[in-house]
Amino acid sequence: MPETFDVKLEKKTYRPDPTYLEGSSMGDWETAYGRFMDDPEGFWAGIAGELEWFRKWDRVKEWKHPYARWFTGAKLNITHNCLDRHAAGDRRNKVALIWRGEEEGTERMYTYRQLHRMVMRFANALKKMGIKKGDTVCIYMPLVPEQIVAILACARIGAVHSIVYGGFGAAALHTRIRDAKAKIVITADVGYRRGKRVPLKTIVDEAVINASSVEKVIVLRRAKPLLELISEMEVDFDEVMEGMAPVCEPEVMDAEDPLFILYTSGTTGTPKGIVHTCGGYMVGTYYTSKYVFDLKENDIYWCTADPGWITGHSYIVYGPLAAGATVLITETVPDYPDPGTWWRIVEEFGVTIFYTAPTAIRMFMRFGEEWPGRYNLNSLRILGSVGEPLNPEAFEWYYSVIGKSACPILDTWWQTETGMHMIATLVGEPMKPGFAGRPIPGVVVDVVDREGNPVPPGIGGLLVIKEPWPSMMRTVHGNDERYRTYWNTIDACYTAGDLAVRDEDGYIMVLGRSDDIIIVAGHNLGTAEVESALVSHEAVAEAAVIGKPDPVKGQAVKAFVILRLGFEPGEKLKQDLIYHVRMGLGPIAMPSEIEFVTSLPKTRSGKIMRRVLKAKEMGMDPGDISTLED
Ligand code: ATP
Ligand code: MG
Repeated sequence: MPETFDVKLEKKTYRPDPTYLEGSSMGDWETAYGRFMDDPEGFWAGIAGELEWFRKWDRVKEWKHPYARWFTGAKLNITHNCLDRHAAGDRRNKVALIWRGEEEGTERMYTYRQLHRMVMRFANALKKMGIKKGDTVCIYMPLVPEQIVAILACARIGAVHSIVYGGFGAAALHTRIRDAKAKIVITADVGYRRGKRVPLKTIVDEAVINASSVEKVIVLRRAKPLLELISEMEVDFDEVMEGMAPVCEPEVMDAEDPLFILYTSGTTGTPKGIVHTCGGYMVGTYYTSKYVFDLKENDIYWCTADPGWITGHSYIVYGPLAAGATVLITETVPDYPDPGTWWRIVEEFGVTIFYTAPTAIRMFMRFGEEWPGRYNLNSLRILGSVGEPLNPEAFEWYYSVIGKSACPILDTWWQTETGMHMIATLVGEPMKPGFAGRPIPGVVVDVVDREGNPVPPGIGGLLVIKEPWPSMMRTVHGNDERYRTYWNTIDACYTAGDLAVRDEDGYIMVLGRSDDIIIVAGHNLGTAEVESALVSHEAVAEAAVIGKPDPVKGQAVKAFVILRLGFEPGEKLKQDLIYHVRMGLGPIAMPSEIEFVTSLPKTRSGKIMRRVLKAKEMGMDPGDISTLED
């Protein structure tokens, strides 16, 4: 683990239009955070009280380091809050889900009532196939409404879902099926991606070999002619729903019953199977969807993640639906058939809240302003980001080109493990490019040294969380020891594994992973600092840096750089970039080597895998690369 270190902080601040704060349901940060600090348990009980429970909790929180239980004794079903609550009331005919396929004009919409009924029918089908509370179901599907139905149907009957992103191959799927002992795999014949069919079912065929727990494979057949189902194990998605009653009482779940297992992105090592439970997770995702995104009744909310990642779990499915939002989902990729695709969708559906990842923003920057410029993006109200540090340059571009300098940028720091947003700049609060913001009310965050002592502003250190929160993971599936290390590395803190720095106002900038730290001549550098400095050069679209052994300095910075369209690699540009970083951060951060590349190794969730670059550079074994994008 690194020592603490000095960080050069940007000083720019943007102030959103005051109407954002006036209309926000959270109110200003100081007051809301103060309300939480005055009575932490009362704060969470208040949020939980906005939802419907079959039985109220005895205690809000029980904490026996490192194990937390939230809303003990409470009984609930998360789908009751995502569906029944709305379908029984004024939101009955509100659109819950809008799906847009890859082909122009292919779309489907479901009201809350319709979605509710579909989920209950599919839940009954699962029950009929013998799935009971506590059984595990693996979902390996493209992003179609049936995927959302499958997820919610599992939760309806208390089955634990393990969603595997449809971009994974057979080996990764096989491991996850076995690891979770899934009884059923739900899939589709194909997904559509860039005009091609991805043969999901063929991959499942391979993945279920030697996975003896699997009793049935449910196949959603989309393509014509219908794919033939071969073995007895295989059943058709629509057929199993046929004749099923659209009424299925929700399973009564204990607040601490597991809801799902989900693997982390595998950016820094072998993915961890994170276990989340029903009650706390529901409260956390509902709270942040409603109050951090500041969802309003008429919002058209679009999170571009896939349900195969935590962002999709929390902010496509559970959070926004618990908050009664209209959620847009789409099977499209951002640059097919052209880089205007997503902006066309924003215009077409009047999207108001848009939530994406820095990797997508940097890709759009590379294609240039003319693509978003062709569409009317005036419906947009709030722009979100998650997954990696949002470089100041990417912030500026997102803010001015997409948000027309009028939309708050919501850079949300959180993890699969945290289940919900932890750090963000609340809508209406002053924004600082490069800084995610302050801990949201309900969350206690600190930046500390190796011994756990808080470090002053301007000094980089380890990002930790000091108090348990409702949607925290409860364990790592099959590896509770790994769970305990999160809480035991630094005394009484949850260690996130990220480096961060705070400014005088308590705003937090994430500097990269503590595993990726570069130590040049005794000085620590977070990867994000150097990468952001590179990205701030007009020629650079994306950059990744690693530390390379150096006989004099201990480590030297090597940078891998993708250029924006219209720029040519060359010696002169290399020197320019080195000078640019030197001017921005000083001589320590200066790359000693720059390599121009056309792509960077990324996880399938779109994060740069620096450990792969490093291993390749040094001729070492890259370790677990199961989540590496092809
Ligand atoms: P693994 O834990 O397997 O290495 P991962 O950490 O990438 O994978 P996720 O849970 O998907 O798995 O990602 C969480 C991490 O993503 C955080 O620890 C952080 O490094 C990064 N991250 C997420 N949001 C932000 C953000 N807004 N700013 C900076 N970093 C972010
Ligand atoms: Mg992680």
